[in-house]
Amino acid sequence: MTSLEVHELTVHFDGRPIVENLSIVVPSGAFAAVLGPSGCGKTTFLRSIAGLITPSSGTIRFGKQLVSISSLVLPPNKRHIGYVPQEGGLFPHLNVAENIGFGVSKNEKIDVVDEMLDLVGLKNLATRKPYQLSGGQQTRVALARALAIKPQIVLLDEPFGALDAALRNELREEVCNLLKERKTTALMVTHDREEALVSADIVALMRHGQILQYGSSRNVYSNPISPEIAVSTGDVLLLKAERDASKSIRFALSQIDLKGEIELGQLVIRPEEIIVSPEPSAASLSAIVTKVDYYGHDAVLQLLLDSWPDEEITARIAGPLGFSVGQKLWVKHAGPIRWFELPHKK
Ligand code: ATP
Repeated sequence: MTSLEVHELTVHFDGRPIVENLSIVVPSGAFAAVLGPSGCGKTTFLRSIAGLITPSSGTIRFGKQLVSISSLVLPPNKRHIGYVPQEGGLFPHLNVAENIGFGVSKNEKIDVVDEMLDLVGLKNLATRKPYQLSGGQQTRVALARALAIKPQIVLLDEPFGALDAALRNELREEVCNLLKERKTTALMVTHDREEALVSADIVALMRHGQILQYGSSRNVYSNPISPEIAVSTGDVLLLKAERDASKSIRFALSQIDLKGEIELGQLVIRPEEIIVSPEPSAASLSAIVTKVDYYGHDAVLQLLLDSWPDEEITARIAGPLGFSVGQKLWVKHAGPIRWFELPHKK
C-alpha cells in the first residue's frame, strides 16, 4: 500500500506550461479521479507520474519514496506502477496471456497470468490476439496486465472511453472492486463527470493544467469553490442578484439577508434543488412550464416565474411526469445557498 503525493508539479512543452503548480495527495488504497476537459493536461500529468515525461519542477512521491525531483527522475521501469493507457495499448502481436504476463518475471509468469485471467474473467480467451477481442475484453486485459506486476500505484487514462454506456458502467464497477480488493492506490483521468463522481473516493477538478479543487464526490459537487467548478460536476442554474429597497440581496426564488458592503454576485443552484408542485405552499412562487425534456428516469422542466420573468429556471424532477408545457405550477428552492461574487472587472 502506497500513497501518491504530487507537490507543485510543472511540465512545459515547447516553452508552454501544460501542467502548472499541480498538487494532490491520494492516500494509500484510495481511488482518485482527475476530471477535466479535453486538452487540459490530464494525460501529461499521468505520464509524468509514470515517468514517461520529465517535469520542469515539482516533486512526486510514492509513499516515502521520492520518484521525481529536479535532480532525480526515476525511469518508468523503476517506479513499479501499472499503467493503462488510452485505448488499452495492448501489444497486437501477443495473445491475451502473453500481454498479461509481459512484465512478470519468468518463474512467476504461469501462476500470475493464471491468477489474473481468473480475476478478470478471461480464462477461456487466453490464446486470442487483441484484434479478436471486444472493447470491454481489451480493457480487462489492459487492466490485468497493469495489475500483474503487483504495482504500488495504478494509473488509468480514460480506460472506459471506447465502451458503450451499459458495458462502461459494468466494467467500471468491476475495476473499482478489483482495485479495492487489492488495496491498490489508483489515479484515473477522465472527462466524464458521472464516471468520476460515481467511481472515485477523491475527485480532482483540473483546468488549464491546474487542479482547482479536490475532495470527495459529495464535497466537490455540493460545495464547489466557484461557479466554473460547479458547472464541471453537474448541471447548474446561475441566478443573478438584485439589491431590494431594504438593501437585502434578492434573486429569483429567494432572498438573502446580506446587508452592508457585500458585492452583488451569483447564486449557484442545482436543478434537483428546485421543488415543483401543482399547489402553492409557504414561500413558493408561481411559474409556467415552457419546456419539458423527458429522460425516463427523470425529467427537466424549463420554467418562467411570474414574479421574475427575466430569469429562466430549470428543475429536474424524479418519478412519473405530471407536468406539461403551458401548465401553471409552484416552485421553491430547497438547497444550500452557494453564493459567489462576480469576478472584478479590471
Ligand atoms: P484529452 O482528454 O483530449 O486526452 P488531456 O487533458 O489528456 O486531453 P494532454 O494530452 O495532456 O491533455 O495535452 C495537453 C496539451 O499539451 C495539449 O494542448 C496537447 O496538444 C499538448 N501536448 C501533449 N503532448 C505534447 C507533446 N509531446 N509535445 C507538445 N505538446 C504536447
